[in-house]
Amino acid sequence: MAAIAAGYAIDLHTHSLRSDGALSPVDLVKRAAARGVTIQALSDHDTLSGVAEAAATGKDLGVRIIPATELNTESEWGDAHVLGYFIDPNDAALEERLRWLRDNRGRRIEIMVENLNRLGYAVDLARVLEIAQGGALGRPHLAQALFEKGYVRTYDNAFETLIAKDSPAYVARVGLDPFEAVALVRKHGGVPSLAHPGTVVGLDDLLPKLVAAGLAGIEAYYGSHSPEMTSRCLARARDFDLVPTGGSDFHGRGEHGADLGGVFIPPETIEHLESRRQRS
Ligand code: AMP
Ligand code: FE
Ligand code: FE
Ligand code: ZN
Repeated sequence: MAAIAAGYAIDLHTHSLRSDGALSPVDLVKRAAARGVTIQALSDHDTLSGVAEAAATGKDLGVRIIPATELNTESEWGDAHVLGYFIDPNDAALEERLRWLRDNRGRRIEIMVENLNRLGYAVDLARVLEIAQGGALGRPHLAQALFEKGYVRTYDNAFETLIAKDSPAYVARVGLDPFEAVALVRKHGGVPSLAHPGTVVGLDDLLPKLVAAGLAGIEAYYGSHSPEMTSRCLARARDFDLVPTGGSDFHGRGEHGADLGGVFIPPETIEHLESRRQRS
């Protein structure tokens, strides 16, 4: 591997092959360690299955792994994703809910494959599943399959064309709304933070309602945020007594997200997040 440039020490938003990232949990933590990360949340979509391996590798390499998950939601609020921190990977009741979400992810992608086939794009479900390697299925796997077939110019281009939200093949998610996502995290002892608030439609309207539902953090530090967006999130954090969180949203696929440790997060963030564990 080529020399890896140094990043910042804390990264609270990362994805592995257990959802739609490209690296195994072990390789993800190795890469994080090589970039100088010492505290990393593994926040795979709708699963905690990578946490044990990540933690074991982290122990060897001096990276503290915070168990987390990112819950994507479906509602009028656009892409309101909820990160849940400090949840227990061995919580059977939570796992049951996450399995339901993963099953819905799978069905949604199957239907999108059928739609694409009907539209004349011969993408193969078996290949999509092979790309996912057992991870929680999502559009990234479909994007990769479409790219391999030459139906899109680049992996990223798929999200703007064949599998865009306004494309004929697109299928909406069946799952939680943002309030249910926050409540689920709280119910299982976790600390919920609103991921990349820039993708929310109607943030100022949604935020007080999510705070009432138990939201504890807001992802103020995020690679694609303008300085204005970061300031706005920090102001909202002060207004609503939320912990400003942050992370790379590294997937290792395409241009989406920053590299591991690619976003500065103040060190006191961890302590502040931990202090919200019992409060609800
Ligand atoms: P899904 O949850 O299946 O709708 O897919 C959403 C996931 O796709 C996000 O979690 C990102 O990982 C990825 N994603 C969304 N939009 C883009 C984009 N424009 N370019 C690349 N990846 C994206
Ligand atoms: Fe993702
Ligand atoms: Fe997200
Ligand atoms: Zn993410």
